[in-house]
Amino acid sequence: MSRDPDIDDLVEQIRPLAQQIVALQEQMKALGMFANDRELLQCSRCGLMEDVTHEGFLITCREPDLGIDTGLRFEPITEESYRCPSCGQTVQEPLSEDEKQEGLSA
Ligand SMILES: [Zn+2]
Repeated sequence: MSRDPDIDDLVEQIRPLAQQIVALQEQMKALGMFANDRELLQCSRCGLMEDVTHEGFLITCREPDLGIDTGLRFEPITEESYRCPSCGQTVQEPLSEDEKQEGLSA
């Protein structure tokens, strides 16, 4: 089976777009916006949770003041773990919906 040259063309066209998306996500994060490149975090100890405003900004809040920014931000420790800025608990990034489904079918 020979490779379809059209697919190679398509890949060549998509590559710069993918690079632009990554660059755009970095810009969004620099502006304090949520780039949708990971799951939202929630601390199991103190209840601090991340939320995204209508404008797309990443905030943290806790009940009963949901939607009101505390001004705190989870600090990344590794790719998948973060430190709660409120109580210091290590918070693992939750599994995405896709990863949950993979887990179920495995
Ligand atoms: Zn906490």
